[in-house]
Amino acid sequence: SKPTIAIVGRPNVGKSTLFNRIVGGRMAIVEDKPGVTRDRLYGNGSWLTHDFHVIDTGGIEIGDEPLLEKMRAQAEIAVDEADVILFLVDGRTGLTDADETVADLLRKSKKPVVVAVNKLDNYQQRELMYEFYALGLGDPYAISCAHGQGIGDLLDAVVAQF
Ligand code: GDP
Ligand code: MG
Repeated sequence: SKPTIAIVGRPNVGKSTLFNRIVGGRMAIVEDKPGVTRDRLYGNGSWLTHDFHVIDTGGIEIGDEPLLEKMRAQAEIAVDEADVILFLVDGRTGLTDADETVADLLRKSKKPVVVAVNKLDNYQQRELMYEFYALGLGDPYAISCAHGQGIGDLLDAVVAQF
């Protein structure tokens, strides 16, 4: 069966934008659970010779629990369901405590994690990615989901983990 990529990250870092870029119109058919719309959150993608499923874990929100609980739930879904976790952060906001908390959860899982630093829309902003080396999850990838930059190199790194 196809490998699964889960996108994890704080609200507003660009998870849905990235998901839409990767999936395009190729949504997976999944059954909604009562009170939880899941069909926007599961999609199919492909890159080079690889076909895969993609999950936008950020959309899976059952109530309005506090941020850390939300992040814990997202990370749990990613760890349970994904072969590779795509950890998305916001390069303009910079590294936050919530990012560090998520990184700790992901590190414990022993699943492969690729860090993508989003919202680096131009060349000058690329240097904002370096502080994310401190997460200890390997080389971060500078991307702009809005402009579609860096996505190819990021997906190269992700499919290399299958
Ligand atoms: P999510 O909450 O993580 O799903 O984030 P969204 O995908 O909803 O994006 C949050 C906001 O960030 C939206 O206003 C997006 O348009 C914006 N955004 C997403 N990607 C980029 C990017 O690469 N550059 C900039 N400048 N804004 C972005
Ligand atoms: Mg979203």
